Amino acid sequence: MFDWLIVGAGFAGSVLAERLAVERGDRVLVIDRRPHIGGNAYDYYNDAGLLVHKYGPHIFHTNSAEIFRYLSRFTEWREYSHRVLAEVDGQRVPVPINRTTINLLYGCDLKTDAEAEDWLALRAEARPSIQTSEDVVISKIGRELYEKIFRGYTRKQWGLDPSELDKSVTARVPTRVNTDDRYFTDTYQVMPKNGYTCLFGRMLDHPNITVMLDTDYADISSIVEYDRIIYTGQIDEYFGSCFGPLPYRSLQFEHVTRACEWYQPVGVVNFPQTEDYTRVTEYKHLTGQEHPMTALTFEYPSASGDPYYPVPRAENQARYQLYEELARNTPNVWFVGRLATYRYYNMDQVVGQALATYRKISLSVPRLAGHDLHASSPPANDPVIN
Ligand code: FAD
Ligand code: UDP
Repeated sequence: MFDWLIVGAGFAGSVLAERLAVERGDRVLVIDRRPHIGGNAYDYYNDAGLLVHKYGPHIFHTNSAEIFRYLSRFTEWREYSHRVLAEVDGQRVPVPINRTTINLLYGCDLKTDAEAEDWLALRAEARPSIQTSEDVVISKIGRELYEKIFRGYTRKQWGLDPSELDKSVTARVPTRVNTDDRYFTDTYQVMPKNGYTCLFGRMLDHPNITVMLDTDYADISSIVEYDRIIYTGQIDEYFGSCFGPLPYRSLQFEHVTRACEWYQPVGVVNFPQTEDYTRVTEYKHLTGQEHPMTALTFEYPSASGDPYYPVPRAENQARYQLYEELARNTPNVWFVGRLATYRYYNMDQVVGQALATYRKISLSVPRLAGHDLHASSPPANDPVIN
């Protein structure tokens, strides 16, 4: 008999399992249909002994001290500032677009932020309102750079033109007039020192948490006994797709090992104009691992396969809201995470959402008497960054 059935052992499910077990002494069963914990953040050592992210590159970044400190209970960190180059017109240039990108692509010599700002302002096209992923880019950098860096990549990644996608998608990538070539500017940019799977292992290591892998919710929900559910899978699947399926974008990952020490100068190279894949990741940049060989992942976007990305556009959001309304009226089930709330969330946002859900649960679900609190949760020491 469990107090909670948690469907999904990714960040959403694992954070809630940890909080409920440690803070309330609740008995938690975590299931996942995959053969591993960690959800999409799962990493593993391949046959050559190289640490690889099974579902593509996962770089941790956040501005939230609370989220960073919380995760620091389960891991030490390595400092890592992510850098991305895009192969454009036969050259490799920094993305997000910055002054160096413009200078390289246009053979100019803009020296100051103000010069770059003027250069972009001359090309930016005013739009009456900014709604789509096309509007948001063209209104800042103009059509030519948009076509070089955003249009082809987005069409490949989403199977849609940027004009068909919500502005929030391409707005994830800013434009800079300085020469900062980091992909993110968050306060905390770190990687778990021993990998994500190790972090999840520590999070779920508690006497009140039972983990069952290779286990689908549909196969087990009527067999095990539990009081409440936390569901982190697709919300449309939970409700039998009664309002029709929500679209998700998938990827095929081609993982390869090369017998050379380094393959590319930075963690990720994007291909907005050529190739069927969108980007190539070389993990040693991310993980800091030293090894004579190197592991890469090529990402091929695909309409079918595991659901990796909700597709942000108005009609999908409208359909999601029907499910959300149904969820609100479904007692004793909490929907949390990227698939269950149909939001294009990064890892830190999912952790934040799970911690907020835990706070709501503590206010609305009384703690059961007689539940022992085990002293085995890791102490909340100061974060360690090596
Ligand atoms: P998931 O990790 O998807 O976990 C949900 C789990 O539920 C899955 O393991 C699934 O198998 C399981 N499940 C679903 N339905 C069922 C069922 N019926 N029965 C049993 N189990 C079920 N974020 C960043 O912050 N930085 C990055 O660099 C980054 N890179 C990314 C790259 C890619 C290619 C992708 C796809 C995502 C990336 N993300 C990144 C986002 C990150 O993966 C997510 O924010 C986070 O992992 C979501 O956690 P979650 O728990 O909501 O979902
Ligand atoms: N994007 C692009 N060209 C690039 C990088 C990003 O067009 O070189 C667009 C594309 O639509 C992509 C979105 O910006 O899906 C968000 O990029 P991000 O790197 O955040 O995607 P993720 O890592 O989540 O796949």
